[in-house]
Amino acid sequence: MFPKRIPSMRRRRPRPPIAGIALPGGLIVLILLSIQQALALPFWGTAPQTSPTPTGTPTPERVLSSTPTLPPPTATPLPTRIPTPTGTPTPTPYPFFQEPLPPSDGTPRALRVPILMYHYISDPPPGADRLRLDLSVRPSQFEAHLQYLRQAGYETVSLSDLIFHLTQGKPLPPRPVVLTFDDGYRDAYEEAFPLLQRYGFRGTFFVLTGRADEGDPRYLSWEQIRRMSEAGMEIQLHGREHIPLNGRDEAFLFYHIIGGKQSIEAHTGRPVRFFAYPSSVYDETLIRFLEGYRFWGAVTTAYGADERLENRFLWPRIRIRGTDGVPQLAGKLQEFTGP
Ligand SMILES: [Zn+2]
Repeated sequence: MFPKRIPSMRRRRPRPPIAGIALPGGLIVLILLSIQQALALPFWGTAPQTSPTPTGTPTPERVLSSTPTLPPPTATPLPTRIPTPTGTPTPTPYPFFQEPLPPSDGTPRALRVPILMYHYISDPPPGADRLRLDLSVRPSQFEAHLQYLRQAGYETVSLSDLIFHLTQGKPLPPRPVVLTFDDGYRDAYEEAFPLLQRYGFRGTFFVLTGRADEGDPRYLSWEQIRRMSEAGMEIQLHGREHIPLNGRDEAFLFYHIIGGKQSIEAHTGRPVRFFAYPSSVYDETLIRFLEGYRFWGAVTTAYGADERLENRFLWPRIRIRGTDGVPQLAGKLQEFTGP
């Protein structure tokens, strides 16, 4: 049920040796709990000298050091709504970022920043169907888009930048734009990433962690994701798999969303704060789940540009189609930003 451990965490936090003794499972849990309580250790038993926090918080040093603003552990809600077998302790042994939304200064704000939505940045394969053609922007065409954006004075910002503006009035550049790329295809690394760097732009990539876990050559690998993140690209979550997440129970959502979030955060060391709904379907349960686990927002495929705090789990985007040249891109942008 829980996502498998990632190698770096396995190295950092070895299982206590007692787990190897052949005893009934319930008895092992009881013994571990007793030891844990006696020693005031977290359930998974980190060696005391490697755990500098006196409260025994299960936050790895790597995560802590990368985010000095991480809230105190007492602010972290326990996943009490997750069905667990009776008698099993509730804390999750797999830490992940849960940053509260930046505190609002009380000033209501609204933005109309274009959030562009790309998928493939590559030449469609021979015989590609209409859907694939529609989702594919050729690299030369994409470069023309970037040239236009630069000439027109656009500067890329992140979705977090929008949140900091909406909550605290943090200034944005005069012509902000967010460039998002869905699905994490391999061409994001091979085509989009170098072009974005050449033009000094920053992209936001919504990836599928299951594809990276399996080493699917059509999708981004973890190594590519890590390099992109280190170069300043935003890596955010589209899901573990590309499956609809409406009508699901909490355990299912935990596996697919928190599992994916943990994987990205462990590989990049940076928080995952935003979600792109797979197939753009969602329901109240899903939105409340994201909010409960301190996501800052989510994007849909609804057409538009309308960012407010109130609709931050339903921010619309501007779909860029395979047929969109520079005039079409300019036309779409001018609907929201003026000429
Ligand atoms: Zn998608």
